[in-house]
Parts: sequence; structure tokens; C-alpha cells
Amino acid sequence: MRKILEDALESCRKYAEEGRVANYIPELAKSDPAEFGIAVISDACHLECVGDYDKPFTMQSVVKPMILLMALIDKGADRVRSLVGVEATGKPFDAFNYSDQALKREHINPMINTGAIALCTLINGDTYEEKFARLLDLTRKMAGDEALSVDEDVYLSEKMTGNKNRALAYMLKAYGMIEDDAESVLDVYFRACSIKINCIGLAKIAYILANRGKDSRTGEQVIPPEYARYVNAIMTTSGMYDGSGEFALNVGVPAKSGVGGGIMAVVPNRMGIGIYSPALDKKGNSLPGIKALEILSEKLEMSIF
Ligand code: GLN
Repeated sequence: MRKILEDALESCRKYAEEGRVANYIPELAKSDPAEFGIAVISDACHLECVGDYDKPFTMQSVVKPMILLMALIDKGADRVRSLVGVEATGKPFDAFNYSDQALKREHINPMINTGAIALCTLINGDTYEEKFARLLDLTRKMAGDEALSVDEDVYLSEKMTGNKNRALAYMLKAYGMIEDDAESVLDVYFRACSIKINCIGLAKIAYILANRGKDSRTGEQVIPPEYARYVNAIMTTSGMYDGSGEFALNVGVPAKSGVGGGIMAVVPNRMGIGIYSPALDKKGNSLPGIKALEILSEKLEMSIF
């Protein structure tokens, strides 16, 4: 395994030159495109890591599966589905060009910004601070890292400049899909996107999702199996946004990317993978990360299809 990871890392480094770090969140423009790390947890919880596997980066959209899980745990699948649909949009993660006059649940899913922002309202808690604290606790637990915290600079950077997300939140409000104060809802979303993690943390979350919600290290059923299935299914169709079909063909596992450069990949019953490289393709997915996953998929026969 180690040799396979080292080879994948070395042969995909060159793609960093073709990618670009996200700059629409000013703080993310400071990322180093040359950083590249992989962590894989496989059989009997064996962890193998290469490159910058312990460098922290912000989760960004990799937190969307966590928001979905928290909403499912707190409100159940029927309520979640009544607010946010499950179909792939085939559009960018921050798209707002819905074709109908009104915004409806059918237009969104939990892996795009509008869907994730809406789901923040379903997390239990009397205040939005409490809602975020619950989400952070679940993320810490699944990542096996009680020290996970928010990168305040990235959080403030997005809060100051995130007017497109603000527009999406107000659109949800305009069409009666959220009732709460849009700024408070956005605050949870921006904080969630700014949680700092590393490749090992992502691999641990993925390993739990790969094992139907059970933490094989402790034997604890951390999340109900049906919710792990829900999240994995949606990641398969929509986790890489409008690159999900291509990714299904070339890699073939449930996965979620983020503009911080992280990708979390779930190989059902077998592996949890965390990758980090902030050089993104045009769709906002880590380019070296996708290329490395293509190699791993072939060498380790990962595709579920
Ligand atoms: N915080 C980012 C945003 O809302 C997350 C997007 C992403 O990672 N694709 O724009």
C-alpha cells in the first residue's frame, strides 16, 4: 500500500501546475498549490499516509456530508427530504440559475451550497451557536480528533466576502424554505466550511461511512447505518458537483470535495481515504487529488460499479 500511495503522489504532483488555488475566498488564495498529502485507512484500521498528510486545511464543502448527517440524526430522513431534494443538479456548487420561477426542493441537493445552507436550519439547538457546536462535536468524534477547531481567518474572510452564498440564503428565505434569520444560518455554514482538518481526519470519517456508520476502531455505531447509506448515495451522484459523472466513471466511489483542496473518498466495506492538494480544476475539485484517486482506483480495484 505504501508504495502505491508514494507512486500516486509522485506521479500526480505535476497536475498542481494545471490547477489553481481558490481565490474567491481571499484567505484561501494564500494556500500553497504544491502541498499534497494522502491518508488511507484500510483492512483492520491500518493507516498509511504519505506527503503532507498532517497539514491542516479547511474542510469547505467536505463538511457538507457532516451537515447532512447532523440534520438526519436530529430530524430524520423524511424531514430532510421534505426540505432538500436528492437529485444531481449537473450545475456548479454555487449555481443559482434554477430554471423555474420559484426555488423548490427538487432543484437542490445536500452537496450544493443552497442545499447545505438549508440543512443547517435542521440541526438541533436553541441558538445557532448551539447548532454549530453540535456539528463540530460530531465532526470531532468521527474524525477522531477532539482538537478540531475553526480557522478564524478563513471564516472571517468568507463571512466578509460570501455575498453569493448570502444571495442563496436569501433566495431560500424568499421561497419559504428557511424561516430563521438568514445571517445566523449563514454563520453556521461559514464556520462549518472553516473547520480545520487534515488527511487523517478525513480518512477516519470516510472509514466510518465505509463501514455503515460503525467506528471499527472502537466498535461503536457512531451513526445509524441507514444514514451512512443516505450520505454515501448522495456523495456518489453529487459529491463532486458537475464533475460527479466523470468521477463515477474514472474512480467509482462515493466522495466529497472542497475548495480548500480536500477530498474524502469512501470505499464501501474497505477503505477511508483523505486527500489534500489545493490546486483545483475549473469545477472546484482538487486536480492532483482526483488524478491520484484515479490511480488508486485502478491499482486497488476500488470502483463499486
Ligand atoms: N465555503 C465554500 C463556499 O461556500 C465551499 C464551496 C466548496 O468547497 N465547493 O463557497
